[in-house]
This record gives sequence, C-alpha cells and structure tokens, in this order.
Amino acid sequence: MKIVDFHCDTISQLYDIRESGENINLRKNRLHLDIEKMKKGDYMLQVFASYVDLGSNNKSLESCLSYIDLLYDEVEKNKDDIEIVYTYEDIIKNIKENKMSALLSIEEGGVCKGNLSLLRNFYRLGVRMMTLTWNYENELAYPNGYFYNKEKDERKGLKEKGFEFINEMEKLGMIIDVSHLSDDGIYDVYSNTTKPFIASHSNARSVCSHQRNLTDDMIKKIGDRGGIIGINFYSSFLNNNYKSSDISKIEDIINHIKYTSNIGGIDCVGIGSDFDGIDCPLEFENSSNMQLIYNEMKKSGFKESDIEKVFYKNSLRLFKELL
Ligand SMILES: [Zn+2]
Repeated sequence: MKIVDFHCDTISQLYDIRESGENINLRKNRLHLDIEKMKKGDYMLQVFASYVDLGSNNKSLESCLSYIDLLYDEVEKNKDDIEIVYTYEDIIKNIKENKMSALLSIEEGGVCKGNLSLLRNFYRLGVRMMTLTWNYENELAYPNGYFYNKEKDERKGLKEKGFEFINEMEKLGMIIDVSHLSDDGIYDVYSNTTKPFIASHSNARSVCSHQRNLTDDMIKKIGDRGGIIGINFYSSFLNNNYKSSDISKIEDIINHIKYTSNIGGIDCVGIGSDFDGIDCPLEFENSSNMQLIYNEMKKSGFKESDIEKVFYKNSLRLFKELL
C-alpha cells in the first residue's frame, strides 16, 4: 500500500548530526527514515519539514535555509529514486516513473520574521506547506498551550501578521498547517480562509487529552473544509497513560485513525508520522515497516478502500486541489 506522510523532521536531524561530526546521509542511516527504508515501506511521498527550534536557535532563517539546502543536495544524489515536487503534476509524473516524491515544508512560521517577502521567497524555493508556529509564540500567532483568557476576555490566536500570512499562503498555494497552533489560532484559520488546511501531525484530544491534539469540533471543521489530519505516532500524543519514553503502539495509532474518521469522516484522515521528531521507541521501529500498520488496519476491519484513503488517496486529493 502506497504511503503519503505529511510530516518528518529527518532533514533537521541529519543536519544537526552532521554538525556534530558524524558522516550521515539520507540514502541509508540510523534514523527512522531514509531512502532505502522508504522504498521498503512503499512510500509515494514524504513531506520533509525544515524544523527550527526558536528557543535554542538564534539564526532561525539561516538554519531553515541550510536544512532546505541539505534536502536538495541529498535528493540530487538519489534522483533515480526520489525527486522534489512543486505541483500535483510533478507527483503524478514521479508515480509514472516509479519514483518517490519529496515535498518541502517549514515547521515554525517564525523563520519568516513576520515578513511576507520571506514567505514568498520560501515558496519560490519550493516550500509548499508551513506551520504558523512550533511551540513558541512568534510574530504570527500563539502556540498550543495558550488558551483563551476568560478573565481578560483575551483571545490567544493569530496576530495581525498571522492573518496576512494565511491570506498570502492561500493566494500562493502554500498549504496552511495548524499543528502546534493554539486552539484560538486554529479557529482563526478556519474563519479566515476558504480553502482546505491541514493539521499535519496531530491526534484526537478525546482519545488522548494532550493540548497538541485536536478537539472533536476542530476535527469536524477541518473535515468539513476538505482538510486532513495526519495521525502522529508519538506515544505522548497517543495515550494518556504513556510517557514519551513508552513505546508507540500500532493499536493506539489505529484507535486515533478510527476515532478521527468517526468524527470528521474517513476523507479527513492521513498519516503524519513525525519520524525523527519523536524520541519514543516504536513498535514497528521505523519507516521501512509501515506496512505493519496496513496489516493491522485490515485485521481490525477497515475496508481496503478506506485504508487507501488514509494512506495516500486523501492526500493526493488535497495536493490536486491546492498545489
Ligand atoms: Zn512537530
């Protein structure tokens, strides 16, 4: 079963490991994801996030550009197997040529420093998806963990720049990603956009009450709009009883897929592994074993056509509409 995955942090990880002196590449490595594992796992497309931690990095723009450069360089060395895509047609071309696709995203809208010209230049560089925040407040918005302040009647959603950004992203054809955003921010995106948007790597809050997860109402609204929720494999986002050191289990991933599709419809569910951004052990170890999830979904009663939707068809529909 082909796979589209909306989120991994592999390129930032690769860059940082290289900086520490280890010789490591995207072809074959010790991380969750590399090209050989993707081939074994039957990948169609991986979204590679350029992830920057504003808390520890005061050169966020430079780092973001370096991670993107690393992806270009590594993909060029492996161009018989994978190519960077900018449009839906590029994805279809790769499928026909039996190649995998790499789509660029940014995880931390703060790298644009509130500057629309930087956003447009990132689009020109191939970025087709961006989270407005990671876990810090930035020029655009407040992240998860900031809730509406009842006493002061103060919303903690998008800032003025944030509204300008989502408007420009819709115009450009850059997919708005609300993972990591505050609850008020997600509603601001919903109320001020017309196209589908996504939560690339978030789960259902009714199943696991972590603030990074989505309420039923958010799931419904994303689904109604034609957007997608990529189910995250991080143990702390899967089950209230798990710590980050606990193993991520396929059973829990399937619970979130089931619940999210019951609330928002099967058309709004996708995969957002968060490979190489999560530090928990995984029952299926890494991206090469993604078919184990397929097998377990089949066993738990999912129809083949519904598994196809979750694994890649919903994502292709979204790319066709937005890219
Ligand atoms: Zn993340």
